[in-house]
Amino acid sequence: MLPTFAIVGRPNVGKSTLFNVLTKTRNAIVANEPSLTRDRQVGRGHIGTHDYWVIDTGGLEGEPDAMNELITQHAWLAIQEAQGVLFLVDGRSGLTAVDENIAGQLRRFNIPIHLVINKAENLLPELVSAEFQLLGLENIHTISAAHRWGIDSLMESVLAPFPPSSNEAADISAEEGIKIAIVGRPNVGKSTLVNRLLGYERVITFDQPGTTRDSIFVPFEREGQRYTLIDTAGVRRRAKVFETIEKFSVIKALQAIEAAHVVIMVLDAQEGMTDQDAHLLGHILTSGRALVIAINKWDGLEPSHREQVRYHLGRKLHFVNFAQIHYISALHGSGVGQLLGAVNTAWQAAHQPINTAQLNQVLHQAIKNHPPPLVRGRPIKLRYIHQGGHHPPVFVIHGNQVNALPDSYQRYLINTFREVFALAGTPIRLELKSGT
Ligand code: GDP
Ligand code: GDP
Repeated sequence: MLPTFAIVGRPNVGKSTLFNVLTKTRNAIVANEPSLTRDRQVGRGHIGTHDYWVIDTGGLEGEPDAMNELITQHAWLAIQEAQGVLFLVDGRSGLTAVDENIAGQLRRFNIPIHLVINKAENLLPELVSAEFQLLGLENIHTISAAHRWGIDSLMESVLAPFPPSSNEAADISAEEGIKIAIVGRPNVGKSTLVNRLLGYERVITFDQPGTTRDSIFVPFEREGQRYTLIDTAGVRRRAKVFETIEKFSVIKALQAIEAAHVVIMVLDAQEGMTDQDAHLLGHILTSGRALVIAINKWDGLEPSHREQVRYHLGRKLHFVNFAQIHYISALHGSGVGQLLGAVNTAWQAAHQPINTAQLNQVLHQAIKNHPPPLVRGRPIKLRYIHQGGHHPPVFVIHGNQVNALPDSYQRYLINTFREVFALAGTPIRLELKSGT
């Protein structure tokens, strides 16, 4: 699973600036998580051979008052889920009492803390660090988030203990089979669905104390096919105190998505698609994972409303139109049986190798049916194609002026490949290479 880092610090030290810098390579998936705090954001970043998640914890006050208390709890929860903390301070204003207070609270967590002195662009690193050494923290970095200075060496040091990222979900092992993550907002029916899929006894067996905060891998078998359910703590076991918060742990969901072959995204038919659902789907799309969509609580809809709901959801889900949509009732079991069939199909599509000769045939037929547009009077030439990866399938096209190939034409090609090679349930990516 990808390492996750929480950015903490008092207001105005530059947390969101640093967050933006650290996630700039993938800024398309930066998403607000309105259920958590006003400002808290989760984003994915990439430096060198490492991918990682960053959480901006929003304003973290040194002395929580009643109004801020909830935000503070959220921040602490984010910290508990992280593999490291970037504790940001302001080098220009120097050490403050609030910084000291935060440092004191951070020490309660048994995770690496990196003291990051920001706004240091015109300051002498040795001088500015001397003052902050009073905090007694070992890893001290000076950066300027606004000027993108010191970021690489900060992240190299932060990421050093972690192995380089690999597409670890791509391989399927005999014991684990197809790894499935079930994700969705609180109360859409994830636990009910998990219980349906696994059977009641199974859930009890695996519901061990002490696993509250960890993802659990639950193997099961259906019709000779092995699966592993990547269950997030929020689904299967709930702490009493922070129930609503713990139920929807974005980071846990993101990590489960990352580790899965196939994601089942659960929506509530009665509530339709909310912003939060759209954000989560955006993350799934970026991850490149195969996807099945389960519209749950279908039993609760008046039969006369169903067509309308189907139509509206279909429109809103158009951006993930590669995914099969299933209308289910986790409570009564209807439609649940077909979900695993869709999972199999999606996994097969994500994973199956495509013959190069056939691929070239299909490409050239597609060009013949509908040639690419001219660029400044010259045709774009697509010469040949091969598969460059799985999970999701990547097709590499070599040609001339391919960078000018319009999105609409790329979509046309993707749709053609999807149809001809029956690639339902997985996103498809194109990589365009100019030969000259
Ligand atoms: P947050 O409240 O901790 O999220 O802080 P922001 O990211 O919103 O930054 C607060 C202010 O500090 C903004 O005006 C930023 O432009 C400024 N700022 C952030 N990083 C730097 C930096 O490296 N140098 C300087 N001089 N200003 C910075
Ligand atoms: P989670 O927070 O996503 O794990 O959701 P739960 O599985 O705890 O379900 C939330 C509520 O929705 C519970 O009261 C369930 O009984 C109810 N629920 C779950 N699935 C269905 C369904 O298919 N139909 C109906 N009518 N209610 C359901």
